[in-house]
Amino acid sequence: DGTAPELRLNGVTAGYFANDIVLDDVSMRIEPAKVTVVLGPNGSGKSTALRIMSGFLKPRTGTVTLAGEDISHLDPGERLSRGIAVLPQGRSVFPELTVLDNLRLGAWQLRSDRGAFQAAVDAMLDRYEVLKPLRMRIAGSLSGGQARMLEFARTLILQPSVLLIDEPSVGLAPVLVDGVYDELERLKDEGRTILLVDQNVQAAVGLADQVYTLAYGKNHLEGARDGFEGQLDDLIKQWLNL
Ligand code: ADP
Ligand code: MG
Repeated sequence: DGTAPELRLNGVTAGYFANDIVLDDVSMRIEPAKVTVVLGPNGSGKSTALRIMSGFLKPRTGTVTLAGEDISHLDPGERLSRGIAVLPQGRSVFPELTVLDNLRLGAWQLRSDRGAFQAAVDAMLDRYEVLKPLRMRIAGSLSGGQARMLEFARTLILQPSVLLIDEPSVGLAPVLVDGVYDELERLKDEGRTILLVDQNVQAAVGLADQVYTLAYGKNHLEGARDGFEGQLDDLIKQWLNL
């Protein structure tokens, strides 16, 4: 969809406490209909950059812009209304609710329009066939791979224009990692705008159009995928020595 807006970080400085600097003058462009991958060692600020984009953390200086408009002051719910959806790091299903209710929560913003609400839920059950027979199950009883698909469904249910996906394959068995990458491939083929952070460097770069690396909370390298594929081993060694 060529009309999808561009999301940008512009010289963002951020941290969690009064004096910590977790992101130091970080800039990134999340281009429409492309997969942008952010790489870097543990603790380099990848999840923090994603939180700045989703609104869970506010920049101290610098801005977040969507199609050129400053959205830095908007909270996560308001950003979701603008089409920015996030699949956060770690488990994010509600284990005591059914699969169906987890999905419904993702479509909460449509609740006043019963028809649209039901259509959105049904569309996700059709898209993620594995969930259909499980819809009355308690989400806490799902396998790791099924839970991850529920998280994808919940993230996608409002048809967001930008998807922010943090560590989708971490902690999954290799066969399930393949399932996650099949899903990411499908999202890419659909022309969605994606920011992906993943420890699985080879697979993530294989999917990327554009790559950024962070080191110590600063922009390190950036470029098109082709420029990265040859130097991944070196990069990883470098990170292990940072
Ligand atoms: P990455 O995702 O690249 O592993 P993070 O963005 O999670 O890195 O973390 C960057 C730095 O910010 C680390 O030093 C980490 O300890 C710190 N940090 C991350 N989340 C929090 C938090 N919720 N509260 C305080 N410090 C945090
Ligand atoms: Mg992280």
